[in-house]
Amino acid sequence: MFIAWLLLFKSLIAFILVNASVVGLEWTQYHNLDEIYEWLSELETKFSPLVTVYTIGYSYENRPIKAIKISSQPGNQAIFMESNIHAIEWISSAASTCFVDKLLHSDDKNLQDLLLRYDWFLVPVMNPDGFTYTHEINRWWRKNRKPTGFSNETGPCYGTDLNRNFNYEWKKSGFPISDPCDHWYHGSGPDTEPEVLALQNFINQFEDDYIRLYLAMHAYGNFVLLPYGHTSDIFPPNYDQMMRIAQGFADAAIKSYNTTFQCGASGLLNYSGYVSGDAKDWIYAVKNVPFAATIELRDNGRYGFLLPADQIVEVCTELTDGMVGLIKAAEMERVLTPKV
Ligand SMILES: [Zn+2]
Repeated sequence: MFIAWLLLFKSLIAFILVNASVVGLEWTQYHNLDEIYEWLSELETKFSPLVTVYTIGYSYENRPIKAIKISSQPGNQAIFMESNIHAIEWISSAASTCFVDKLLHSDDKNLQDLLLRYDWFLVPVMNPDGFTYTHEINRWWRKNRKPTGFSNETGPCYGTDLNRNFNYEWKKSGFPISDPCDHWYHGSGPDTEPEVLALQNFINQFEDDYIRLYLAMHAYGNFVLLPYGHTSDIFPPNYDQMMRIAQGFADAAIKSYNTTFQCGASGLLNYSGYVSGDAKDWIYAVKNVPFAATIELRDNGRYGFLLPADQIVEVCTELTDGMVGLIKAAEMERVLTPKV
């Protein structure tokens, strides 16, 4: 009899836990693709018609690439974010989803204004195959999972670094990433990867000047990286203006935990010579979006890519503070014009 009660009690607890877990994401742990997509559809159900979820295309292994759009009123300008184009950088999607959740649920007047006055887009997992691979097979995977057609001593080589595959100054970095088995392989040509094409097709459908800010979320190092990545000699026409906007992020992001973000062209800073053909340079130079940045979140290398989950909430606070500061600076620079 006691055993029967024990079993009943255990199954009751299991039932409660299972049902509790589908209410929403908890940012006390890292979540897999299914959990993030479940959260997206819950938001769509809860906030329709404010929230729309799109499938913008499919990965090489045929997983949907999903985007969420939040729009409170017609005529808004748009702010576009993407994360986890690099599979290994789990904090990027954890922080971006947490930020969007705060936007939708906060009673903070600053965030409520941002929610009302701008359209928001987030592609939380740009690289669903690689991301799934990091959860199931190899935590250290970075690229997508399309076979390159080449092999080395370990067997067939898979994957292209999607953030080196965009068709702007492709392959111009000095770093040797032409090896199809390399961690940073840029692909056999520009725009060869289905995930890159899905994002471009989605963005190409919008009118010029609709997207005003583009934030590519990455880790790690605490940087706000600006165009261009392929050179340290040539700077974008409005580089000084972008620097002031990036500094708006850094000045606000420091306040809660004293985390400093360094701002500058990615060709100049930590990743000098390593980056060409990335999303931010493409969106800035090809799509003429007036502010585009790669934001490298925590940390400075203590944990690196394996940032413990108990830091997610703090990183989310830094990102949220930083976004408020960045948007204020972009409004001062008239890169953004809020619809009141
Ligand atoms: Zn990255």
